[in-house]
Amino acid sequence: MKFIPGLLPSMIEAISDTIEKNAEEVTALDQAIGDGDHVTNLQRGIHALMAQRDELSRLDWVAAFQKIGMTLMSSVGGASGSLYGTLFIALSKAAREQPLNLQNFADIFTQGVEAVKQRGKAEAGEKTMLDVLIPVADYMRTAVADSIALPEVLENIALVAVAGMESTRDMLATKGRASYLQERTRGHIDAGAKTSQLMISAIVGVLSDQLTVPA
Ligand code: ADP
Ligand code: MG
Repeated sequence: MKFIPGLLPSMIEAISDTIEKNAEEVTALDQAIGDGDHVTNLQRGIHALMAQRDELSRLDWVAAFQKIGMTLMSSVGGASGSLYGTLFIALSKAAREQPLNLQNFADIFTQGVEAVKQRGKAEAGEKTMLDVLIPVADYMRTAVADSIALPEVLENIALVAVAGMESTRDMLATKGRASYLQERTRGHIDAGAKTSQLMISAIVGVLSDQLTVPA
């Protein structure tokens, strides 16, 4: 499998599809413990990325991540816009320091997640997108250390993301808008955790399909 920016248009399309398909469900989650705008916020970013997708596929990873981050920062809005924007800008910075290959990606992604933690002043267990992003980063580093085969890694990333998303249901929100509702947040999955899981699963799907295509 070639891990190239040429895959970006397919990834953006897959993300767009999954957010579209799950829009009602995610909106209901954000309505329950937030203000209901999470999907429309994200869709603004996705539409902007759809318009840039051919241009993005011609950049190298450092430039592509930077451009995606800037686009998300300026188009998404809400707490999630600056956090997803921060993630990609940090991925760009990390990818500048080491070549982007499947081994290094675990470390690069971890640095991106660390930047999100700092930006949101949040940790694991606070009922946010980080409850998906942190376990996925942790799993990737373990998988690289244990030299697990790529098809299995991809399958497991999707499972870890779902488990992380589900884990937010019983958590108490202590960051973001949901934190105003305190105990009433228990019993609801966090919208940002859900969209992170959906987007990660979409990317994994594109990479898994790529594995079956001869190089
Ligand atoms: P807003 O909360 O401003 O309406 P969105 O609805 O677009 O923004 O995004 C809400 C999501 O952002 C939450 O579901 C949560 O996952 C994530 N989030 C909010 N605050 C933080 C934070 N401090 N750290 C990490 N993630 C956060
Ligand atoms: Mg919201």
